[in-house]
This record gives sequence, C-alpha cells and structure tokens, in this order.
Amino acid sequence: VADYIDGEWQNPMVVPYAPLQLNPANATLHYGQSVFEGLKAYRNEDGEILVFRGDANQQRLNESAKRMCIPEVPKEFFMEGMRELLKVDREWVPEQAGCSLYLRPFVFAADDYLGIRPSKKYKFMILASPVGKYYAKPVAVKVETRFARAIEGGTGAAKAAGNYAGSLYPALKAQKDGYDQLLWTDGKSHQYIEESGTMNVMFVIDGVLITAPTTTGTILKGITRDSILTLAKEMGMPVEERFLTVIELEEALNSGKLEEAFGTGTAATVAFIRLINIHGKDYDLPDVSPNAFSVQILEALDNIKYGKVPDKYNWIMK
Ligand code: PMP
Repeated sequence: VADYIDGEWQNPMVVPYAPLQLNPANATLHYGQSVFEGLKAYRNEDGEILVFRGDANQQRLNESAKRMCIPEVPKEFFMEGMRELLKVDREWVPEQAGCSLYLRPFVFAADDYLGIRPSKKYKFMILASPVGKYYAKPVAVKVETRFARAIEGGTGAAKAAGNYAGSLYPALKAQKDGYDQLLWTDGKSHQYIEESGTMNVMFVIDGVLITAPTTTGTILKGITRDSILTLAKEMGMPVEERFLTVIELEEALNSGKLEEAFGTGTAATVAFIRLINIHGKDYDLPDVSPNAFSVQILEALDNIKYGKVPDKYNWIMK
C-alpha cells in the first residue's frame, strides 16, 4: 500500500490484509475514480516465484490512470511493491499445476469531497489471492448487440472500475439464459465483434488467426492477447488484426470455416469457446482437438509462465 499526498507517492509498505476505513464522502464511492490491473505469480519446479509481464501491467495501469485523471504510479512503487509483497506472501504461491497467485494492483481516489473534480489524494494497493483454473470447461458466449461495453471516446480501453459496473447488467441477463460471457460488439453499429467482458477474443477461420485491433480505444490491450500474437507469429501462424463482423462470424459458423474460437486473459489464459449465440440462435463449435492452435498456444504460454522453457522475450520477473 502507498499514498499519494501533497503531489507525490509516499509511505510504501506491506501491511496485513484488513478492511479499509473509508469516509462516507470518499470520492471513489461516488464517482468511481479508480483503475486496476490483474497479473499472476507462478512457482517453477525449483520453487522460485515468477511474475509474468509485470512491466506491461505497470504501463497499462498508468495508461488507464491517465484517462481517469489519476497520477501515474512510479515503476519502483509497482515493481518493488510486488517484490516486497511476494517476499511476505511466498507461501501463498500455489505449487499445484495450473494454480497461481493472482495479484490485483489498484489505485483509487482518497479525497473526502463531494464536488466533482479529480481527487488530490490517492491510495495504491496490491492485493494477492491464490487461484486455480478459471474455467474448467469450454464456455458458451452470446453476441451482445443491444448494450455497449465501450464507445469511441469513452473509457473502454482503460481498466477503469466503472467499465465493469456498466457491463454487469447485460452480462447477468446472459448468464440467466445459460451463457458464461458476452461477446461485446462496437457501441455504435453493433456490427463488429470487440471482446468479451474479461477477455479478448480470437478466432481461427480457414487457418488464419483473427482478433480485433486495439486501435479504436474501445478494447482493452490485453497482455495475454499480445503474448499470443507474438508467439503465433513465431509459430508461423497467419495473423490478422482486424474486426470480424457479426455477419462474417455467422457465415463462418454456417459454412464450418470457423475452426476455433477462444478468449484470452490473465485469469483463464485461454478459454475455449464451445457455443456462440448470435441474434438468439445457438451455434455449436467443433470440439477442441489436441492439435488445435488454441491448445498449442495455451501450452506454449504455460511453459513460459511456469519457467519450463527459456524466457526469450524477457516476460518473467523473478
Ligand atoms: N478485456 C477485458 C475487458 C479484461 O478485463 C481483460 C482482463 N484484464 C482482458 C481483456 C484480458 O487482458 P489481459 O490478457 O491483460 O488479462
């Protein structure tokens, strides 16, 4: 935990897990000036603790912070904070395969003030929690064409608390109908597939890996997405960063050209999609074969995360 007071970050320390005391006028409670990150620490066979792409999360936190008028968290506070926390929480990094310690750095406004303006005080915290596999089996998703998660000029590319609040209602409705996640479309025409609520999405159509670009400012720049695109290119997989339209997706499903679809994110790494609902119609996807791209890429990424192969891209912090 660290505080931003009088124009600078100060008092970094590791403290026991405990409730926070907040003033009822705390600015975050009213206006949601808050950003967060999610990353994981893994244990290798020698018992060492490995953090995957922490520098990318640090950068993204500050990009999100900028959009929300939150002061940047200096790299030392983020990285050293994580190192110090992991020294204390070493034993909490699980040994079992597929498990890890989830790390949740976040920053929120700490002013006790009801006027609407950026806060002058902030708190930075990193929370840690051991986690297992996110999805045990392939997921069913529904293409959302009524509600919007993000619009151009909005805050969709930031990992800001309010983005998630706004997506709860449509996501809950879909869950009640039996779907695990939504596939969000663009907020204007609802014709282009953007991402899911907690993951970027990728499709393999006719042997080509397709995923939406992150240039519109409406899609989170997923670190798993970036890692997979890097490894895919290395594997010689043809990659297209372009928007897939809902119609194109429907056609690919009807013609059997959609070979694979999966979500990518820190929590699940790769979540296989077994069913896609478009405009009320359920389409089943083929079973995931052991030599599918998504299976191979999941294994390639896990091998890096658990330190089983050399860290060519400098993604691991020990
Ligand atoms: N999109 C959204 C909306 C998310 O919340 C997440 C999870 N951080 C992702 C994509 C995947 O990002 P990452 O691979 O960095 O976890």
